[in-house]
Amino acid sequence: MTFEVTILGCGSATPQINRFPSAQILNYHERFFLIDCGEGTQIQMLRYNFKHQKIKHILISHLHGDHYLGLMGLISTMNLNGRTEELHLYGQPELMDIIEMQLKVSSTTLRYALVFHPLQHFQSQIIYDDGELEISTVILSHRIPCTGFLFREKKRLKNLDIKALKKYKIPISFYNDIKNGLPYVTDKGKTIENNILTIPQKTLRSYAYCSDTCYLPDMVPQLKQITLLYHEATFDSTLIERAKATFHSTAAQAASIAKQAQVKQLLLGHFSARYKNLDLLLQEAIPVFKQVQLAEEGKTYVIE
Ligand SMILES: [Zn+2]
Ligand SMILES: [Zn+2]
Repeated sequence: MTFEVTILGCGSATPQINRFPSAQILNYHERFFLIDCGEGTQIQMLRYNFKHQKIKHILISHLHGDHYLGLMGLISTMNLNGRTEELHLYGQPELMDIIEMQLKVSSTTLRYALVFHPLQHFQSQIIYDDGELEISTVILSHRIPCTGFLFREKKRLKNLDIKALKKYKIPISFYNDIKNGLPYVTDKGKTIENNILTIPQKTLRSYAYCSDTCYLPDMVPQLKQITLLYHEATFDSTLIERAKATFHSTAAQAASIAKQAQVKQLLLGHFSARYKNLDLLLQEAIPVFKQVQLAEEGKTYVIE
């Protein structure tokens, strides 16, 4: 089952020629979630050939402009393009006030239902659960209320052992049941256990988006051993005081969180516009945590 994240924007504060503000698309088995929607998100979707019609859920971490100023434009385009399917939006309570005000002054009535889910910022909560995937919030520490998002696989469909299926002459119409963990019962009433017909399952996968935040070891227990962590790395270590004052993190601090949480992979993002070349940030992170990459716009990272 597909589980991957595509970066549309990984810059902080203002849009740059080569770097857009925060936005990314998480694809879990063709269920698409847009995480943050900075200015230019629509342009990036066009550039990387992603159809906004696919998005059913939009999650906004906080109300700094670099995380949501593209949202009203996207909501508007969806309406102009004739969307009728409901759209779920998650964010701080004031987000809906902003949207309603903009719809009101332009006398716009959306053709689709915008279902708003207000987020708490003092306690983690489960905001989505479809039986296979669960999303919970991660409480971050920033200048204004801010939440990260943790996507956790709840169960995975089993992989079929084709040789075994052929050996026991299992009809194709039963394959789905077997993927779901059921045994097969023959015409003569003999039960063939599921583990004989499937390949042992891999561990459940998970992804966390943590931006924006100061260095916050409090988040470590919740992120323990997750598969991929996207953590902001706005500054290099010479600007650690500035990071503290603005409630952001350095690359080494992001790496330290990844190390403490024993995550499998770390992806750095939310880069300050002052860095034309990001090598410095990577070089500061590697000694602390080796399995680290810099987020690249347009690139898809498989969570496995
Ligand atoms: Zn930001
Ligand atoms: Zn911010």
